[in-house]
Amino acid sequence: MTRATAIERLRNIGIIAHIDAGKTTVSERILVATGRLRAPGEVHDGQAALDFDAQERKRGITINAAATSVSWREHQINLLDTPGHVDFTVEVERSLRVLDGGVVVFDAVAGVEPQSETVWRQADRYGVPRLGFVNKMDRPGADLERTVAMIRERLGATAVAVQLPVVEDGELRSVVDLVSGELVDFADDGRAELSQQLAEAAAAARQALVEAAAEADDELLAAYLDGQPITALALRAALRRATLAGRLVPVLCGSALRNRGISQLLDAVVDYLPSPLDVRAERLADPAAPLVAFVFKVVSDVHIGQLSYVRVHSGTLTAGSYVLNATRDVRERVGRVLRVHADELAALPAVAAGDIAALVGPRQSVTGDTLCDPAAPVVLASIQLPEPVIRLAIEPRSSADRDRLSAALQRLATADPTFHVGVDAETGQTVVAGMGELHLEVQLERLRLDHGVEVRAGQPEVAYRETIRRAVEVEHTLARQSGGGSGQWARVRLRLEPLERGAGFVFAEEVVGGAVPRQFIPAVEAGVRDALGSGVKAGYPVTDLRVTLVGGAFHPVDSSELAFRTAAAQAFREAMRQAEPLLLEPLMRVEVVTPDEYLGAVLGDLGGRRGQVVGMEPVGGAQLVRALVPLAALFGYSAALRSLSQGRASFSMELAAYGELPAALAAGVTARTAR
Ligand code: GDP
Repeated sequence: MTRATAIERLRNIGIIAHIDAGKTTVSERILVATGRLRAPGEVHDGQAALDFDAQERKRGITINAAATSVSWREHQINLLDTPGHVDFTVEVERSLRVLDGGVVVFDAVAGVEPQSETVWRQADRYGVPRLGFVNKMDRPGADLERTVAMIRERLGATAVAVQLPVVEDGELRSVVDLVSGELVDFADDGRAELSQQLAEAAAAARQALVEAAAEADDELLAAYLDGQPITALALRAALRRATLAGRLVPVLCGSALRNRGISQLLDAVVDYLPSPLDVRAERLADPAAPLVAFVFKVVSDVHIGQLSYVRVHSGTLTAGSYVLNATRDVRERVGRVLRVHADELAALPAVAAGDIAALVGPRQSVTGDTLCDPAAPVVLASIQLPEPVIRLAIEPRSSADRDRLSAALQRLATADPTFHVGVDAETGQTVVAGMGELHLEVQLERLRLDHGVEVRAGQPEVAYRETIRRAVEVEHTLARQSGGGSGQWARVRLRLEPLERGAGFVFAEEVVGGAVPRQFIPAVEAGVRDALGSGVKAGYPVTDLRVTLVGGAFHPVDSSELAFRTAAAQAFREAMRQAEPLLLEPLMRVEVVTPDEYLGAVLGDLGGRRGQVVGMEPVGGAQLVRALVPLAALFGYSAALRSLSQGRASFSMELAAYGELPAALAAGVTARTAR
């Protein structure tokens, strides 16, 4: 039997980092420090990095498991995976939904990188308390103080170091724990005495920490103003309260590669990050209440089949029970409840509120669904998914591939709701769509490696949108006489008005005097929605407009829901043709970091891509360029940037908005689709 962990001793955390900051290494070291994995390649130091890579590949699945559990100081820490690449920000969002706290890893040399900002803002939005871990303190140019200053300036957070690093000859020899005042010497991992000089520096740093904590916590402020000595206990408690309140971000440092600072980081997770009881009040973490659980990831495992990762918000989920998937209104059997421990799975009798586990059994549940007690159905808000911006036609290489393709694609789409699969209505080709070139590349790679299906891929294409430029009002009558008996008759009058970018679709009705009977109004809306899927300009989805049903007429015998639905769809198309339809294209927010000597080349190239530079600033000896660039002009950008900067510039991008596609280019798009 696994002893259940009391809720207050649970920590659901994510390790969040810019790619390359060391998230994988930190995670791996945590698994080693907590006894979940044996230390990799410890024996000969020169080999360590290589061995590490090979082992990581072998363990890829488990280390990158959606959640893995470790214990530390009688606490259970569930580590949730968060992806590093910005193409997958929705996965970051998804994990932010289920985690309670975050450890944000920074590179001590590079400091705050552009992509860290994106993730940081997402975490702000979800109110996730955070710790900073400044990694790679062994590298030349590593600087904790500068990184803390960057977190304050660029991320607007009250970051404060809770350690004072002692670096000698480029090695992080020890740190002073500013809360307890103790010296942690990594050479023997014991706690030694401070030298006179170090003691003075540490006293000053502790003073700064106490002041920052007092500013963020009234209780400590009172004690501080009283002139009382601030004990380690009082300071730790104040730091915890301030961190949970989002008023302060404690920052630690270390070198994951050299295995330094990991125990201290785990201590800080226990000391400062929230338990499920500490967070977001709307969640009721009571194991005895009716079950409510959120499916945050579905993966297919070669050995086990489909694994659904859930966070239990309330109640208890028991192995062998039936639950209601309230999102889909289907019953699912939960065969087994599993805890994932790095490289092994442990069966649990049940999982209780606050905790995270993987389920075997549910077949129809997908990411974002709610599982609950059939007697008390609840649907939790699903994750807001961004629409795909890029699409690609694919075809199977062989007939064996053809047979397996659709099932494999379906499985990928279940696991990743931002990956869409469809069929091009005109060419009949299979089309996949996603968040960026890299996203689709990764998915096709998975198709090949995980599912053994080979495909040929066409050129990636932009997923455009359509909208209208002017308001129109159109009346349309459907009058269809079928054979002998009754026909179909409906008349609708629709007004279409453009809305600002990003507003989406709004339906309204202003019918007076029962011109269109109440019961047919939902059918009118459904008809309009049918037509929105494919605009009149080039067949792309239509957005950013309001459609109002202003009037119409009905026939006592021949009017039906179907008649109104059909009439509305036809009326919408007719109206859209008169409303000056136009094409919208995705505009990406691009951030390039380049050494000064390539700045001119980078700017010139962005200009050639219809890019609009919106800002520039120096960062750590390089230049950060922010620009808005149409996605259509960004194909192959990573290769182009690499070659014009000799591999030294890097970039990240995310969807900023949809903007009007210039008429000259729109003509090309329309013509291509019309063919
Ligand atoms: P991720 O992309 O964030 O998962 O980063 P990884 O953990 O894969 O690390 C990226 C690179 O940085 C790898 O080559 C690591 O060996 C290296 N790295 C990680 N931690 C440290 C560190 O503390 N010091 C140094 N010098 N390199 C590190």
